[in-house]
Amino acid sequence: AAQKETLGFQTEVKQLLQLMIHSLYSNKEIFLRELVSNASDAADKLRFKALENNDLYENDGDLRVRVSVNKDARTITIADNGIGMTREDVINNLGTIAKSGTADFFSKLSGDQAKDSQLIGQFGVGFYSAFIVADEVVVKTRAAGVDASQGVEWTSKGEGDFTIADIEVPQRGTEIILHLREDEDEFLDDWKVRSTITRYSDHINIPVQMFKEEVPAVTDEEGNESSPAEPAKWEAINKGTALWTCEKADISEDEYKEFYKTVAHDFDDPLTWSHSKVEGKTEYTSLLYIPKRAPFNMWDRDTKNGIKLYVQRVFIMDDAEKFLPSYLRFVKGLVDSNDLPLNVSREILQDNKITQSIRSGNTKKILSLLDRMAKNEEKAQEYATFWKEFGNVLKEGPAEDFANKEKIAKLFRFASTHNDTAEQSVGLDAYIERMKEGQDKIYYITADSFDAAKNSPHLEIFRKKGIEVLLMSDRIDEWLMSHLTEYSEKQFQSVAKANVDLSDLDDEETKKEQEETEKEFSSFVERAKTALGDKVKDVKVSHRLTESPAVITTDENDMNTQMAKLLEAAGQ
Ligand code: ADP
Ligand code: MG
Repeated sequence: AAQKETLGFQTEVKQLLQLMIHSLYSNKEIFLRELVSNASDAADKLRFKALENNDLYENDGDLRVRVSVNKDARTITIADNGIGMTREDVINNLGTIAKSGTADFFSKLSGDQAKDSQLIGQFGVGFYSAFIVADEVVVKTRAAGVDASQGVEWTSKGEGDFTIADIEVPQRGTEIILHLREDEDEFLDDWKVRSTITRYSDHINIPVQMFKEEVPAVTDEEGNESSPAEPAKWEAINKGTALWTCEKADISEDEYKEFYKTVAHDFDDPLTWSHSKVEGKTEYTSLLYIPKRAPFNMWDRDTKNGIKLYVQRVFIMDDAEKFLPSYLRFVKGLVDSNDLPLNVSREILQDNKITQSIRSGNTKKILSLLDRMAKNEEKAQEYATFWKEFGNVLKEGPAEDFANKEKIAKLFRFASTHNDTAEQSVGLDAYIERMKEGQDKIYYITADSFDAAKNSPHLEIFRKKGIEVLLMSDRIDEWLMSHLTEYSEKQFQSVAKANVDLSDLDDEETKKEQEETEKEFSSFVERAKTALGDKVKDVKVSHRLTESPAVITTDENDMNTQMAKLLEAAGQ
């Protein structure tokens, strides 16, 4: 019996649908990319499951997706022979958003359509994007390996609810029928659909086919056949080969960019990428992209990492977090290994020589990609964009990846007394180049804000002597500097610590003067010590101030005042 029921969408889905319909107007053709990408995912999942149970193919192993247009019915249909869905799958997948960070996503919406549509692009709208162009969507699906009678039909107008019913579906897989809105006739045009798919989905893994009408034979004046008739047939309109398996020289910039959009579900072009085939002890291909913008949920603890894992071109899993360290979690792309077993699991990846070797290879690739970008003056703007979006994630690097500490630190950019602006543009190499004769340390200060850093009395003597100091005011900086103690064999030195010794930079005369001042003030110092008692560790004559009368410093091994404040705020 066809059991039919109507269910309400989860609240967030309702909100998302409204938002999408209204704010994705200028990007509406992305629904094709999303639905074709779901079909390709469904093929990937079937291939993976069939590794264990070949019967799931039901004698139909040529996985493909078919797109067709019906002008009379005003529909466009996307049909795949992938894994399909059971009734339970349908209810779970097409009625709720099970994505992490949904609440965060909604909290970031501004009401400004242009901004929100960027955000929604990052969120990955997926299946629901069908409602951008359709006022009714019908899904007919049957899971691989179950009886034809266990098909399911899902119908919705994209408002508050959807209807679900049991139907017969002889053919395994999923068919999605979009009833186009009144003004969306352009998607009834064969050419428009073809060109959109070629643009967005040329290099996905499976063939995307469209129906080609019969071509009648052409005869010349004498009645001879000059070109034979061609029967109507389904014809692939994309390359259908996975982009990463092609030779670099055969891939255009545009192809790389469009592939990125499919992999990352981003509207924007990537900032840059690295495609490498590694041969030798471990063999793998990786295609790794750096996005232009940080995702809205980059700081979520459970944000997924953006690497897909393939083994010998078979898709294995999303969010393969073991292939890059966490401080590079903004990288999107994929790894295709020739050495891992097809039945590899997250547990196996955990402690695996091959994984480790790919991870360290990927890390090197990304660090040198960034290094090249940083060095290239023509790309200065790109690097500045990168630093602004991802600099604070990269700062987790020295603590996480000891072996690459220097390489990571080389990429850092700070504000500095050299130009005294809040812009973080000074690299450590540039700092070292400007170091004074006799200076052997890299000086820095951490503070709550750029202004507090810039106006700190600790800087007075440094300014006077013309010694550059890095001005750090990001929340993570204090912590970063507890893990980054030297660079290029130069120690880092906080100017807020008591033992800053600039005497190497002073001449004999100054030193003598200073000794005299100290003697002169010794009785005052004693009085101050008595007056302050337990409140301080020590009172000293300072030669570091030029304008302020006094300054509070911390001992070399003590917490910085900044850190002390943080801990206090945290109730410690
Ligand atoms: P995502 O693809 O990011 O998971 P979507 O909104 O695009 O999100 O799809 C939601 C879920 O619906 C998918 O994860 C999948 O389980 C299911 N789904 C969508 N389209 C298909 C399809 N063509 N075949 C099988 N399952 C599908
Ligand atoms: Mg999807």
